[in-house]
Amino acid sequence: MPKLFIPGPTEVLLPQREAQTRPMIGHRSKDYAALHASIEERLKKIMFTENRVFISTSSATGVIEAALKNAVKKKVLVPSNGAFSKKWASVAESCGLEAVRLEYELGKAVKPEDIEKALAEDPEIDAVMLTHSETSTGVLSPLKEIAAVVQKFENVVLLVDAVSSFAAAEIRVDEWGIDLLLFGMQKALALPSGLAFCSVTPEILERSKDQPQGRKGYYFDFTEWEKAAAKNNTIITPALSLMFALDFQLGEIEKNGGIEKRWADHAEMQKITIEWADKKGIEYFSEAGFHSPGVSVLQNSLNWNIGELNEKLKAEHDTEIANGYKDLKEKTFRIGHMGDHTPDGVRELLQWIDELTAA
Ligand SMILES: *Cc1c(COP(=O)(O)O)cnc(C)c1O
Repeated sequence: MPKLFIPGPTEVLLPQREAQTRPMIGHRSKDYAALHASIEERLKKIMFTENRVFISTSSATGVIEAALKNAVKKKVLVPSNGAFSKKWASVAESCGLEAVRLEYELGKAVKPEDIEKALAEDPEIDAVMLTHSETSTGVLSPLKEIAAVVQKFENVVLLVDAVSSFAAAEIRVDEWGIDLLLFGMQKALALPSGLAFCSVTPEILERSKDQPQGRKGYYFDFTEWEKAAAKNNTIITPALSLMFALDFQLGEIEKNGGIEKRWADHAEMQKITIEWADKKGIEYFSEAGFHSPGVSVLQNSLNWNIGELNEKLKAEHDTEIANGYKDLKEKTFRIGHMGDHTPDGVRELLQWIDELTAA
């Protein structure tokens, strides 16, 4: 079973995998309602929000599409600094919305002042779709500062893709003023893939109600979701086994020092990787000061054959890192240090890389 140091899906520990084997329960039963309520309550706690948190049986991209369809009135600003953030502009267009791309060079972080300028220039923009951690380049954009800027514009809501930052980086939904925060379970939560979540303010729910006929469809309609959620339910049969695993993992996070401890662990794994790279003369691909705590994207400064290195890691240590994303293949490589990985595990991985690349 290979140990995954890739930026998702991440390594899932055995007890979390085994939690999925609990017997099925009826999804309209009292037991289900109790499970749903307990998961929502505990997610709210680690998201620092009192807003509704929806549980969606879909990948995170499903909730991105849902966010756009329900929460954008007409035109959305999409800061684009990598593969994921670029895609969200096309997804918006495929939903019949207008998208304004704010383009950045790969590796650069989104800057609050650019957002402010773009919003001031175009009063038709009514939403911003920000990718907090751009997983393809390892950049973490300054969410708190960006949220503060968006709050100056009364008619603009902030939607955040926190798929590879949630549970790795500090995020405080209510205090920072985030209208919608979404993420999946296969990254820093270290669970199998298949469920996604988002918090929504009452304003987002109002916008959902006001969408024109035909925009939302049924499966991703927040208005329908809200009616079900008010009864601790979902509109469809949810992925129950995944909810069992999540229920277990939320308990583990609480038992092991809470979400703040998870942030601290990610910061430490990141620090170990930064120090290793510095020592070896390997440069980060992401802009200094904006490295994502869950994934390090490193330049191939020493001209390694990354594909071959990964084959050797697999053969000798049953471990995988990730090559660069698409065009960045072999030019960069990615080390996912998120989820239930540990500082010692990261040190061990880096030592193996040292050994396998020693001349
Ligand atoms: C992984 C990832 C996604 C895609 O998530 P899915 O669950 O595969 O839909 C979206 N955004 C970011 C930033 C990601 O890292």
